[in-house]
Amino acid sequence: KQLNLKDPSLLRDQAYINGEWLTGTASFEVNNPSTLAILGTVPNLDASHTEAAIKAAQVAFPLWAAKTGKERATLMRKWFDLMIENADDLAAIMTAEQGKPLAEAKGEVIYGASFIEWFAEEAKRVSGDVMASTWSDKRMVVLKQPIGVCASITPWNFPIAMITRKVAPAVAAGCSIVIKPAEQTPLSALAMAELAHRAGIPAGIINIVTADSEQSIAVGKVLCDSPVVRHLSFTGSTPVGRILMRQSAQTVKKLALELGGHAPFIVFEDADLDAAVEGALQSKFRNSGQTCVCTNRFYAHESIYDAFVEKLSAGAKKIKVGDGFGAGINQGPMIDAQAVAKVEEHVADALKQGASLQAGGKLLEAGKLFYEPTVLSNVTSGMLIMNEETFGPVAAVVKFKTEEEVIAAANNTDFGLASYFYSRDIGRVWRVAEKLEYGMVGINTGLISNEVAPFGGVKQSGLGREGSVYGMDEYLEMKYLCMGGI
Ligand code: ADP
Repeated sequence: KQLNLKDPSLLRDQAYINGEWLTGTASFEVNNPSTLAILGTVPNLDASHTEAAIKAAQVAFPLWAAKTGKERATLMRKWFDLMIENADDLAAIMTAEQGKPLAEAKGEVIYGASFIEWFAEEAKRVSGDVMASTWSDKRMVVLKQPIGVCASITPWNFPIAMITRKVAPAVAAGCSIVIKPAEQTPLSALAMAELAHRAGIPAGIINIVTADSEQSIAVGKVLCDSPVVRHLSFTGSTPVGRILMRQSAQTVKKLALELGGHAPFIVFEDADLDAAVEGALQSKFRNSGQTCVCTNRFYAHESIYDAFVEKLSAGAKKIKVGDGFGAGINQGPMIDAQAVAKVEEHVADALKQGASLQAGGKLLEAGKLFYEPTVLSNVTSGMLIMNEETFGPVAAVVKFKTEEEVIAAANNTDFGLASYFYSRDIGRVWRVAEKLEYGMVGINTGLISNEVAPFGGVKQSGLGREGSVYGMDEYLEMKYLCMGGI
């Protein structure tokens, strides 16, 4: 046993369908990206298992929907409490399969659990509406009802939070759900299912279908093709989002898509430079740069450009990279060799086109997945890193002259998820915030995610919002009642 858990029964090697643990016929391995050791195996489920999970969710749905919001809230609160009680074990499982430093993993467990707490509370507040009728003999009323069976496909970068952000509002609204977790991080999802089971969430309401990268395509196809599944939520890359959108056209599913980003981070000449550097380090290097809201492009005003690059590089050099279980480690490995290859390609391309290397620039150790926190200066718009999502610990810093020019550059992308800027000028803060074509804007901060705020993007970064009071609407349908004969 590589993992020393207080409660070893949280480490599951079976999938969870209809309240039961299922072995399946095939399995696939889960690796630790820090040691490259095999952590265990989980079932490699196929189309027929997915159909069984959908059926279980379909049967369970009406009973769950018929409960009061308060009843659902009580069970969800138990689930939340169990996640908090078991936060250390959940964090250890996450660090083992995902790589992020243990303290960061614990932070994600707390953040992930906060969605369950928040939506458990919101479950009690799903209210309809009464319109002022223009017919004297008719009354007009709007009911909000759960959409039905839901499906979600989630990524490996936040193995718990990306699931709870979807499952919590679905379950709170009265829906049932089939989840296909990322093939790299199924153990965190299964541990959460174990806790949901212990909390008393009924069989069939939450189902976890594990599958490797190849089988995930077949599982995704069944979820999209099924007329029973009324809602699909996905967090992942834009190309896969497009596939799922296309596949969902046949059944006209409601979609929530959290896709790629290419976040700009602008440092104006009137910014508090030290605060900007601190925010930049958080926004860039958290989770080894593997978050969809991580900065991909820094724009620093020419008057503070050299100072910003110098301070950012000094900060990057202080980041301690290594196994997430190690003491004092603040950056773990990349998720896999493919992720490293993309980072290497972006750095090589930038250097070839005239960028200067200010920090990092290579793997810490050949054959392993630890990439040094890297800073590139003299970056220009034609470079790969300025146009594709890097998803790694590389900060590319561009010089700009005017506010107008930098806003145009920041908006010159098909993505529109997160953006950041630092300025102390109140007029500029308002002006720039209004003009940035992004779903989220961090102003004088590099950290924006929170369960009470609507998370989501515009343009090709996706559809819909998760979290917040708005997050519940995704999982509710409106029904208009027109009552005549009054
Ligand atoms: P990443 O690059 O972050 O791994 P992906 O978009 O490739 O992002 O993967 C996110 C999730 O989408 C994972 O759970 C993965 O298994 C799943 N996935 C990838 N391709 C498909 C597909 N064609 N159909 C359904 N799910 C898919």
